[in-house]
Amino acid sequence: KERREKKPSWLRVKLPTGEKFKNVRSLVDKYDLHTICQSGNCPNMGECWGAGTATFMILGDTCTRGCSFCAVKTGRPPSYDEDEPRRVAEAITLMQVKHAVITSVNRDELKDRGAEIWYQTVKQVKESSPTTTIETLIPDVKANWDALARMIEYGQEVVSHNMETVESLYRKVRPQAKYNRSLEQIARTKAAGLRTKSGVMVGLGETKEEMYKVMDDLVANGCDVLTIGQYLQPTKMHLAVAEYVHPDVFAHYKEVGLNKGFDFVESGPLVRSSYHAERHL
Ligand code: SF4
Ligand code: SF4
Repeated sequence: KERREKKPSWLRVKLPTGEKFKNVRSLVDKYDLHTICQSGNCPNMGECWGAGTATFMILGDTCTRGCSFCAVKTGRPPSYDEDEPRRVAEAITLMQVKHAVITSVNRDELKDRGAEIWYQTVKQVKESSPTTTIETLIPDVKANWDALARMIEYGQEVVSHNMETVESLYRKVRPQAKYNRSLEQIARTKAAGLRTKSGVMVGLGETKEEMYKVMDDLVANGCDVLTIGQYLQPTKMHLAVAEYVHPDVFAHYKEVGLNKGFDFVESGPLVRSSYHAERHL
């Protein structure tokens, strides 16, 4: 039987409490919204929600894909909710979020990949709270470049698309995605004049050389910001952790990334793509 490694001390976090935390939770419930903080069982909820910020997940809570690291529900989603952009905008306005991060499930069954809901969400947040800056962490549009164009048309400040892992682990980690297609999506986003960002998890069995390669590929495709964090297994049904990467290695990756040409690299065991996102503007 496989021995489960004990989590190292640098991965221990405080449990969420406090007034601001409760306020975020009550708005999320009241507006019937979904957050990746909850779906992904994120270790930073105490810190982020305690500071009054969350990452909203739009286009429902059911994803058409089944990435082996991800805790979001998989299946055939019901038709989408056209009122969702309004509710997201209202919640962000009430929460007085200065910098909002919005993501979505994959909706591969929709012809437009959900682009219209994406467009409406950015538009309605900007209309309802004009000073709020927005990062959209968008899914793989499966080379539907018109859908990509619509998703980014309103002009959000940052557009991210996560590579998640190194090329050799795609089949195991992101079976419905393609490494080069994700790079192309980032290159096209950059070519449209937007600030670009991507995230990679470590501890899945990648080598350092493979990490350098994904960094080179991202820089070559116009990626401005990189986040690197430790993969944590959400349930026993998900991929096992291959390694708890030491904080010194995260510091090394940060230095390498900056030397390779990223504007900003956030790298640490608890880093998630939306962690400290206001620094990535
Ligand atoms: Fe939510 Fe991101 Fe903060 Fe985690 S790091 S709690 S996903 S905003
Ligand atoms: Fe999770 Fe995104 Fe993969 Fe869907 S596409 S299973 S939400 S990581």
